[in-house]
Amino acid sequence: MTRAVCVKCGQGKVGAFARCLSCHYDPEKEGKEVQARSLLLSDRYLTVSQLKEAGERIRSGAGHPFDEAEVGEVAGKLPDRATNARIGLLIGGVVALIALVLVVFVVAVFLALRALI
Ligand SMILES: [Zn+2]
Repeated sequence: MTRAVCVKCGQGKVGAFARCLSCHYDPEKEGKEVQARSLLLSDRYLTVSQLKEAGERIRSGAGHPFDEAEVGEVAGKLPDRATNARIGLLIGGVVALIALVLVVFVVAVFLALRALI
């Protein structure tokens, strides 16, 4: 069941960001603009018959008549990968800090116990 169409070759695929089995084009590795176009060529924006038509147009070489304003709008709503990386870094930093405090605490308790004996 086709739920999206490859932006590059027009082959049907399971999801907007799925790698194309035919030409191996992977929207996940491309920029937001390609991802926006991929979303616009999925069942989120098109009916099954529209997807079929779009696929046929791309395969014939005519291409899909994207609404560039819509592409920009959809791209703007996509999560920013840089922001995600920053949040990941922040969480990693906090976890590392907690681990460090824990280690210092355990060493302190160990030393205190040794001093008692
Ligand atoms: Zn493809």
